[in-house]
Amino acid sequence: MDVEKLKASVRGEIDTHRHRLGELSLKIHSNPELGFQEVKAATWLTEYLKESGFSIEQGICGLPSAFRASYGQGEPVIAILAEYDALPKLGHACGHNLIATSAVGAGVASKLAMEQLRGSILVIGTPGEELYGGKVVMANRGAFDGVDTVMMVHPGVLNAATTQFLACHHLEVEFFGKAAHAAARPEAGINALEAMLQSFAAINSLRQHIKDRARIHGIITDGGEAANIVPDHSAGKFIVRAVDDNYLDELKQKVINCFIGAATASGARLEYRWGEARYAPLRSNVTLARLFRQNMQSLGRKVHLLDPSNSIGSSDMGNVGQLAPSIHPLVAIAPAEVLLHSSQFASAAGSEAGLRGLLDGAKALAMTVVDLVANPGIVTRIKEEFRRGK
Ligand SMILES: [Zn+2]
Ligand SMILES: [Zn+2]
Repeated sequence: MDVEKLKASVRGEIDTHRHRLGELSLKIHSNPELGFQEVKAATWLTEYLKESGFSIEQGICGLPSAFRASYGQGEPVIAILAEYDALPKLGHACGHNLIATSAVGAGVASKLAMEQLRGSILVIGTPGEELYGGKVVMANRGAFDGVDTVMMVHPGVLNAATTQFLACHHLEVEFFGKAAHAAARPEAGINALEAMLQSFAAINSLRQHIKDRARIHGIITDGGEAANIVPDHSAGKFIVRAVDDNYLDELKQKVINCFIGAATASGARLEYRWGEARYAPLRSNVTLARLFRQNMQSLGRKVHLLDPSNSIGSSDMGNVGQLAPSIHPLVAIAPAEVLLHSSQFASAAGSEAGLRGLLDGAKALAMTVVDLVANPGIVTRIKEEFRRGK
């Protein structure tokens, strides 16, 4: 088996599909759909995969816009993930249209490897990354059971084979006070807004003494109705993040203590709810990342093994990485000064540079699939590394 020849043919296959992939990417880009509502994107992606010979299961895990497309037989079982949700108001400012179409391109090209060798390729459609943690739901409902390795590629401002993601948990907080005339009878009121403001002050004080790279941030979603009424209700949304699960647990309690302190001081009653989906930190598989890096570099891109920037968010991919050896690489589509989740990044996701990122991302993924099916020993090593917790 000539691995290099097979890699050249998967690259060629992606070039053959270049116009259709580009069109599909732009169609998703100009029809942005929010998390768990991405039915158009899911339909277009599965139509493409079905025409290319994949078997399709739509609406898996009880999520209408999730899907699983499969081709081939037996092991290794290699999954490539597609995301396709957009952001409120900004559209595809995280470039998930490119993630989706690079996954489809990689899946279609990987068929060549499955035909010549042995193995199964899955393209798994994972909705609602931005707002809901769709992969957390899917992981809990078995979507990644029996999968040997998981890969996807996310657009960014540099090329990197691994990304760091923080563990994170969303929190909703409400204070209940007592309304009163703010001038005539202020002494009779209990001010729920002040309780919220004191919570922010306490969290700001706490922030000086937390571990490096942990994050706490929030917004007020209800701060009262009128300036002459003592607010009897306030509400806010917060996110707490940390490098590892243990510190996240510790920090969550410290944050709750800030709210309890504010409730005690103001006399307002506190209610809080942690979000359903708790994001795990991402464990990137180093062997898989090295293979991907080598393949991406062969396309003429300079690729970091580790993302050298300090920018770290969180992703539901973290939860997938706890179940199977995974990577979440980045492919550059915009200059370093462009920010993710900005209108400039949304433009980049629909640009020529975005298309080049899509094609290179798809090629690097498909070539890595070739490496995996051509060398079963590598898959064993990757799984061993995963079991050892590396
Ligand atoms: Zn995003
Ligand atoms: Zn994203």
